[in-house]
Amino acid sequence: MHIAYASSEVLPYSKTGGLGDVGGSLPAALAALGHSIDVFTPYYRGTKKIDPKAEPAAEGFVPVGTESVPWKLLRASVTPAGVNTYFVAHEGYFDREGLYGDNRGDYADNISRYIFFCRAIMAAAEALGKPVDVFHGNDWQTAPLPVYLRTSFAEHPFLSSAGSLFTIHNLAYQGLFWHWDWPLLNLPWRHFNWKELEFHGKLNLLKGALVHADVLSTVSPTYAREIQTAESGCGLDGVLGDRADELFGVVNGIDTAAWNPAADPHLPAAYDAENLAGKAACRKALLERFKLDASGGRAVFGVVGRLVEQKGFELLVQGLEELLRRKVCLAVLGTGDPRIQERLTEAAKRYPGRMGVVFAFDNALAHLVTAGSDVFVMPSKFEPCGLNQLYALRYGTPPLVRAVGGLADTVTDATPEALQAGTATGFAFDEFHSKALLAAADRALASFGDAAGWRALQQRGMRQDWSWTRSARAYEDLYGRVARKAKLRSSAAS
Ligand code: ADP
Repeated sequence: MHIAYASSEVLPYSKTGGLGDVGGSLPAALAALGHSIDVFTPYYRGTKKIDPKAEPAAEGFVPVGTESVPWKLLRASVTPAGVNTYFVAHEGYFDREGLYGDNRGDYADNISRYIFFCRAIMAAAEALGKPVDVFHGNDWQTAPLPVYLRTSFAEHPFLSSAGSLFTIHNLAYQGLFWHWDWPLLNLPWRHFNWKELEFHGKLNLLKGALVHADVLSTVSPTYAREIQTAESGCGLDGVLGDRADELFGVVNGIDTAAWNPAADPHLPAAYDAENLAGKAACRKALLERFKLDASGGRAVFGVVGRLVEQKGFELLVQGLEELLRRKVCLAVLGTGDPRIQERLTEAAKRYPGRMGVVFAFDNALAHLVTAGSDVFVMPSKFEPCGLNQLYALRYGTPPLVRAVGGLADTVTDATPEALQAGTATGFAFDEFHSKALLAAADRALASFGDAAGWRALQQRGMRQDWSWTRSARAYEDLYGRVARKAKLRSSAAS
């Protein structure tokens, strides 16, 4: 099949979170299964720095509201086997410091930037000339794609035969804009209704994709169920419930070359499931970097993540005093909300030697925290998939997680039954409360005190296969489903 994969983040060119990891890995895994993949992503300032030699491949104009905006397509100079990576370039829209905003907040013209992106992808696909079977959009930045395909382009000679898959990586980000922005889409006003793109008087791009894409997916089966409930549906649970038959959950894979403790250039020592000795050197380096004292049999708890409410930092902060009364020290790496940053800084000052924080987006340090910690903590309020717990499993750092979304699907709690059955890989708690976190931490610490049992827990996680091949097969099935729907539609139309 020929797939046009659209994402506003693609590693190694851009990333703010898991979306970038997926965009960097899934296309290559699909190509390895024999599909032809064109990846489309913006030519941000950072992207240009990484690939200044990208070659012009096509150009043209697309409408954004009343403007006719020039687009340029550049072909990446290096691209994984079987994948063509294309950059959509426009200096005004994408040659900026941040991806979506700067320290004053989101860019005011984000809606124009990503309408342009989607329109340019469709025009570029046509210019490249190879018929597309499936347009695969990801998150709100590409939500206009499935909408256009089923509305203004439904009878387009080149695009009408294409179907669409739309993947929700995080339902909390919906591309919500005021209704005055509607004309930027160049769609008839009749689509601005409560069954399509209107949402409590506003324009909701994501909702449009949820309604118009042939097939929907999200990044774990549990999250696929959760988002159909009022509690986790971010106001779109009804729309998702209506599409339940076409909504699937596929857990993300991880890049097993980039995240491999046996050959990780960011670590002071290598190790694997057979020989874990090198992990001690990583732990030592982590303690030095975060100025922590783990003497007296303390366990090192590590955290890496965006400092946002979603990640459950409030539970950590609330339970901190209690937690640090136990034999624990804590290393936190993250960037984000200045208020969370402030609270963590304050806590770290109160507990020198027991808690260290680094506020940076630092991939090398993320590797060190993952490898050097004893327990990896993710008390998320919600978590569509989560990658960090998968990295932690592979690095022999049993995760301590709240059992939501992808965390529930990937970490098996060390209950007595799971331990007996030999399936436990970490520790999980349900209630979003610091007491529940502490109770799970106590179980983790008890287990940490039993060296042989701990080793077995580490090894079990390390030997699991979270590579992309497994997920790519599931996406392949979804593409097949999309193609069948598109074919039925074409034959009904003719
Ligand atoms: P999300 O997509 O919600 O941010 P995920 O767990 O799916 O969460 O993916 C987060 C990705 O971003 C991981 O690859 C993680 O290592 C990385 N990451 C998050 N914060 C940082 C940071 N401060 N420094 C380096 N890497 C980070």
